[in-house]
Amino acid sequence: MANQQDVIRFDGVEGSGIIDASPGNLNGESASPAGGATLKRLAVSGLFLFDDPSRRARAAAILRRLPPLRGAPVRIQGARGLRDRSGPVHAGSFLRERRIAFDCTRDEFPRIFVHEVAHFVWLRLGNPARWSYERVLRAEFAAGVTGELGWSAEWRKRALSPRARRARSVAWREYCCESFCDTAAWLWSGIRRHAEFTLPAGPRAARARWFARTLGRGPLSI
Ligand SMILES: [Zn+2]
Repeated sequence: MANQQDVIRFDGVEGSGIIDASPGNLNGESASPAGGATLKRLAVSGLFLFDDPSRRARAAAILRRLPPLRGAPVRIQGARGLRDRSGPVHAGSFLRERRIAFDCTRDEFPRIFVHEVAHFVWLRLGNPARWSYERVLRAEFAAGVTGELGWSAEWRKRALSPRARRARSVAWREYCCESFCDTAAWLWSGIRRHAEFTLPAGPRAARARWFARTLGRGPLSI
């Protein structure tokens, strides 16, 4: 497990200060990785580096459903007993270290893989697009829409107070981030039904339109 200082985004952990970071800039970090010359030798399929090769083919099939991605490689690792302070978690994304650790079943891998990749997309999406997605969510609240497309977003949504929403509090911004990632997973994982997909059909369609309009055919920077 990494030094806690390095844990930028860990599902279930609060306190991410990066949600409104400038596009392509993580706490002053350069977008171009050190050792770029080495990384350039990797094929496109090398965008993700698998510690466990058995996940490679499954991930490749999932990635075909996403817009093209670009960026420096992200390491995909298995990990046993991942937890945050509220209990076990399925995965953690370490944005600065460019790695994702998984502790999930084979069945859940597609949904969780897309969710974690979406954290990298959200980070570099830029504020205009992030604020645009926030407006989609605000419209849902205004219409009294309940439900979400994953538990990560759902529990945060349930916990939000009107004041937190109005003030764009950390809790609100974390909710927006998790909602984006859960929506991406619903849209792109290939999983059509899941007990955690509780958002009604109308708002689902509106989110799908937002993704098509805003993210289109990519490429998406990660
Ligand atoms: Zn998440």
